[in-house]
Amino acid sequence: MSLNAFPPRLRERVRVSEPLGQRTTLRIGGPAQYYVEATSLRDVADTVQAARELGLPLFVLGGGSNLLIADEGVAGVVLSLHGMKKINVFGHKVQVQAGANLNTLVNRCSVEGLAGPQSLAGIPGTVGGALAMNAGGRYGEIADYVERVIWINPEGELQSLYREEIQFGYRISELRHGVVIEAVLQGQPGERAELIARAREILQQKLAAQPYSEFSAGCTFKNPIGQSAGRMIDLAGCKGLRVGGAVVSDRHGNFIVNTGEARASDVLELMGLVTRRVFEVHGIELQPEVQLWPGRKALAA
Ligand SMILES: Cc1cc2nc3c(=O)[nH]c(=O)nc-3n(C[C@H](O)[C@H](O)[C@H](O)COP(=O)(O)OP(=O)(O)OC[C@H]3O[C@@H](n4cnc5c(N)ncnc54)[C@H](O)[C@@H]3O)c2cc1C
Repeated sequence: MSLNAFPPRLRERVRVSEPLGQRTTLRIGGPAQYYVEATSLRDVADTVQAARELGLPLFVLGGGSNLLIADEGVAGVVLSLHGMKKINVFGHKVQVQAGANLNTLVNRCSVEGLAGPQSLAGIPGTVGGALAMNAGGRYGEIADYVERVIWINPEGELQSLYREEIQFGYRISELRHGVVIEAVLQGQPGERAELIARAREILQQKLAAQPYSEFSAGCTFKNPIGQSAGRMIDLAGCKGLRVGGAVVSDRHGNFIVNTGEARASDVLELMGLVTRRVFEVHGIELQPEVQLWPGRKALAA
């Protein structure tokens, strides 16, 4: 009955009780009450509107590479923009839709001689997710390249924002409160072969330092100012700690890995354990970088 909130042309594409775990890099999580894969701005706008009419929360799913989804799943509408992934390079700028894969974008920029986004090489997920999280690392973050973003803001309005109008922080931005549709990023002219080599080098560094091919959501906790969460976790003796199928990686203390059978509740319990041990040893309370769906309080309950 609630499907009537979606316009008829979209209704047949709405999936009910759609499993989400396989859509995340941790391979954990229950179903979405409603799941929609948008292929156009109209689909996105209609889905936002339908969620409002239903009085349900809207969750935007990118590549699922920074998500811990509850075992019970999410009561609400989950919107994916995987059908919106166009990339158009013009000069030293690139216009990109939110569902584009970030590494595909990096490769396109390299091939077309656009320097800058190579610093993001190897970060999994979509451009929308990268903007929502202000993804980055030691060589830069996506905010460094943003010229403008088109999104549906939390009030449900389509809006174009210039870089200086957007609040970006460390591994977070206000854009996660709305739906990023597309962005224009700017770089500098560069030499194709050099850029390809640079991106490859940065990817190799990640592969050498992280359990990249295992099921994880990347760094579990944010680095406290001037400190490395991974090192603190290591010094607190947490490497190898296990709850159910969830383990603190031996290769990188800030990665929690699903060895195959982990549940979200295992990961949460392990996160709690690590937080407590780090606090005992270092006196600092680590804050999660991974996004918890449907939300921190509901998950912890
Ligand atoms: C092996 C590994 C290595 C990683 N290395 C790094 C790293 O070096 N640096 C780094 O910053 N991160 C890293 N990550 C974490 C993750 O890849 C990034 O946070 C990534 O940018 C998330 O993008 P996503 O599309 O997967 O987003 P998701 O995980 O799907 O979503 C994350 C958040 O973004 C929101 N979101 C997604 N799309 C949109 C949209 N279109 N509009 C609005 N909000 C949206 C979601 O609602 C959610 O709140 C790593 C993860 C893994 C698994």
